[in-house]
Amino acid sequence: MSEHDHQAEPDSLRTPIVAVLGHVDHGKTSLLDKIRGSAVHEGEAGAITQHIGSTAVPLEVISDIAGELVNPDDFDLPGLLFIDTPGHHSFSTLRSRGGALADIAILVVDVNDGFQPQTHEAMDILARTSTPFIVAANKIDTVPGWNPEQNRPSKVAIESQSERVQSDLNDSLYEIIGQLSSKDISADMYWRVQDFQKNVGVVPLSAETGEGVPDLLTVLMGLSQRYMKDEMEIDTAGPAAGTVLEVKDTQGFGTTIDTVIYDGTIREDDTIVVGSKPEPIVTDVRALLQPKPLAEIRADEEFEQVPEVVAAEGVKVAAPDLDDAMAGAPVRVVGDRELDDVLDIVRKELADIEVSTEEEGVTVKADTLGSLEALVSTLEEDEIPVMDAGVGDVAPRDVRMAETAETAHEQSILAFNVDVLDDARQLAEQEDVGLFEHDVIYRLIESYQEYVEEIQEAQQEQILENITRPARFEILPDHTFRQSDPAVVGVEIRGGLLRRNSNVVAFEGSDTDRVGTLKTIQDEGEDVDEARTGERVAVSIDGPTVGRQIKEGDQLWVEIPEKHAKILEQELTDDISADEREVLSMYLERHRNRDPFWGK
Ligand code: GDP
Repeated sequence: MSEHDHQAEPDSLRTPIVAVLGHVDHGKTSLLDKIRGSAVHEGEAGAITQHIGSTAVPLEVISDIAGELVNPDDFDLPGLLFIDTPGHHSFSTLRSRGGALADIAILVVDVNDGFQPQTHEAMDILARTSTPFIVAANKIDTVPGWNPEQNRPSKVAIESQSERVQSDLNDSLYEIIGQLSSKDISADMYWRVQDFQKNVGVVPLSAETGEGVPDLLTVLMGLSQRYMKDEMEIDTAGPAAGTVLEVKDTQGFGTTIDTVIYDGTIREDDTIVVGSKPEPIVTDVRALLQPKPLAEIRADEEFEQVPEVVAAEGVKVAAPDLDDAMAGAPVRVVGDRELDDVLDIVRKELADIEVSTEEEGVTVKADTLGSLEALVSTLEEDEIPVMDAGVGDVAPRDVRMAETAETAHEQSILAFNVDVLDDARQLAEQEDVGLFEHDVIYRLIESYQEYVEEIQEAQQEQILENITRPARFEILPDHTFRQSDPAVVGVEIRGGLLRRNSNVVAFEGSDTDRVGTLKTIQDEGEDVDEARTGERVAVSIDGPTVGRQIKEGDQLWVEIPEKHAKILEQELTDDISADEREVLSMYLERHRNRDPFWGK
């Protein structure tokens, strides 16, 4: 059965849920603060309600802030609910029925700074979840020469600046529009956008002076009213659906879940199903908690109990057995439905979020289901296989899991926004398991990729170190320093890399003859380990006598074992120098004259 099967008529429009995303320091927190603060400025603070994890801004407050831009009569949506924790991290946590929980998003971009890694990352997440968004081009007050005036609409604000300031700002704004279009998103200044479903509106603003904030609220309200009204029609009396934002200990209540309710009503004593592993939790609501208004907070009582909460709203739910609840997991009130049916709904939703893993690969931990999913899907795009993925801090058993990966670099844990327990960190060090931690997905993956490259380079070097390298050299005339035991002669390297302790061969006719072992190399009286093309050095060769097995003017070669020759030819050709390659092919040619399959 689907959740929509039950027949009640939609009786109300809920508040659209708004999330704020963007690169660090671009002004997400400031913007949220400004929106809350502007309301205070308008003397409407009482009308703004602080929920758990979110702030409700009612239509009247918005129209006060927006002035002539918003006529409340044009709207029947009740206002906007802003999620308080900015950042795409919390955004991807907040999901409903497999999509994004936020109905609409604000992508904050610093006009001076343009697109940055987290801006791109946020856009990818918005695209993946098909979430409509507008761009807040923030910090317009920092354009040199800007003349501020608190809280006015941005078009008015811009038009009252000098031509120079306007032109500088325009350059920055068009830069942002250009960056959007390079991501195949058609965008324009919001006042030129006719159809917000086709084009993304850019709102220039300042979270500092409040300039442009009225415009932002107007555009958000207009967009929601125009394009989301259908989705906002809910049966408020129906059983609640929500998403866990955070699992937290709350004094006096044990483990509680901060939850955003996006559909229906939740009441004290309701039976709820909460997403968890391996099985969903079934429990009864003991208390619904909301923050107390600031003035009423006493030391030990931050929260007040409420009898019920109607969507859309954030609430702290206290109930027994919530220890294994997971951030990002669904919450459902059972209501008059069969418990089994509701369990199925929750299981199915969890399965949708579940990430796919493979036989071989890295181990991944993230703080919430949503972020885990985002991380794993980005890894997939980067063709990094994942063997195990889970929500929660990195524990010793994750290290044990990572250790079972076959290749050295895959014995790694990628930890996104979680802690690494001390014993896990110790174990990882002891077992040489790579630990990568970051709270930006892109950075996390990048540091892992760098590590993989380093390992691969080191392995390559190791192989080259242990493999016999090709070299060809010639005994110089009049350079016999010692006849035998060992023979010491002057040579010139004709090509390749000559190293000490190499066996030496001569090709005479169609036969190769090992003539002895080259023990030492001397360059102007100094012992050296190797000599390269063009160098003239003295070498000692154990075995032959000059004038018998070897003589001045002879061409000699470093003997390459057949296995090494094969590896050099088939796997390492790009890792050796051009002249080594040439010597190798001459060497192979000589062998293959006798045996066409030598070294193949
Ligand atoms: P977040 O990391 O995206 O939440 O960024 P914050 O809101 O913490 O802002 C980062 C810094 O930029 C802070 O020092 C803010 O005071 C400053 N800031 C944010 N918005 C503006 C703005 O519109 N104008 C100016 N001048 N500074 C701003």
